[in-house]
Amino acid sequence: MPSLLERYRDFLPVTAQTPLLTLNEGNTPLIHVPRLANALGVDELWLKFEGMNPTGSFKDRGMVMAMAKALEAGAQSVVCASTGNTSASAAAYATRAGLEAVVIVPSGKIALGKLAQALMYGAKLVVIDGSFDDALNIVREMGQAHPITVVNSVNPYRIEGQTTAAYEICDTLGGAPDYLALPVGNAGNITAYWRGFTRYFERGHIASRPKLLGFQAEGAAPIVYGQPVCHPETVATAIRIGNPASWSYAVAARDESGGLIDSVTDDEILAAWRDMARLEGVFCEPASAAGIAGLRKLVGAGRNDGKGRFVAVVTGHGLKDPELAVKQFAAPEPVAADLGTVEALLGWEASVAVH
Ligand SMILES: *Cc1c(COP(=O)(O)O)cnc(C)c1O
Repeated sequence: MPSLLERYRDFLPVTAQTPLLTLNEGNTPLIHVPRLANALGVDELWLKFEGMNPTGSFKDRGMVMAMAKALEAGAQSVVCASTGNTSASAAAYATRAGLEAVVIVPSGKIALGKLAQALMYGAKLVVIDGSFDDALNIVREMGQAHPITVVNSVNPYRIEGQTTAAYEICDTLGGAPDYLALPVGNAGNITAYWRGFTRYFERGHIASRPKLLGFQAEGAAPIVYGQPVCHPETVATAIRIGNPASWSYAVAARDESGGLIDSVTDDEILAAWRDMARLEGVFCEPASAAGIAGLRKLVGAGRNDGKGRFVAVVTGHGLKDPELAVKQFAAPEPVAADLGTVEALLGWEASVAVH
């Protein structure tokens, strides 16, 4: 399989001078999930499992593009603010590109797996006593005052790279789905999907475009409320954003596609998160379950009849935040190490020894 930038170069800002950087991102599985579809009451459901990207989230699609363009422009270092996945991806691709990466994160708000990644990939990690917004402000000022490339989603190449997920879905299905459900945080991804579907449509690769169904967490749902949220709160840290950078693009994607942007509660997110793992063996991070939580809410309320082909974007891998997963369950107490005890614990009949 050619690298992502090669495979979709006609749809991307790739020139003859653009280095074809890659960690084999993209080409992620599109998994047919009939059991989950049945539980939700929809006809046909597929999960685009973006947790299978090299650093475990869809951020790699945008980062490979942004980093390739930074290299092309002669950059030597890059900087980003992040609550996790962006920093992990930036650190990995900067290393791959031979660039220095500076990552600025708010203290205490980053999941263990994501922190481990930034450290392991060798980024210069700065933890600030402040919020994500504070971190982003510092990054913006650094970008103006120093010869350093900002790779937050204000970097236009990020969204371009992320359009590739829409192309892959259409290529795999042999056409566009009827609906695409996904979590919305900073709203770059919903913007990218709409741009991707539209580009494929305009160039005659697909005959229709899906309705986009975006879901924010109830405690961080500025687009749903129509105003910024000063203190966003949700268990789904990857979408804990009160003032999305791509807000107006997300609204345009919603309206042009005939879709919607709604909210789901933390309980709905966590229930969907557990069901995806339990019913289909797809373990994602909590934010990534917002699309499934939202579909369940819509179909359950009769706002969607569940007919047609649905794709839900599963944005990041479950191992990003193992602590939260383990906390969902009572820790098993150790028992005596013999067969009889294990059988009794499982409620099985004792086996008869065979000689
Ligand atoms: C970044 C991220 C999101 C939110 O995507 P936006 O483009 O900010 O809307 C959702 N889930 C995961 C796992 C993410 O890393």
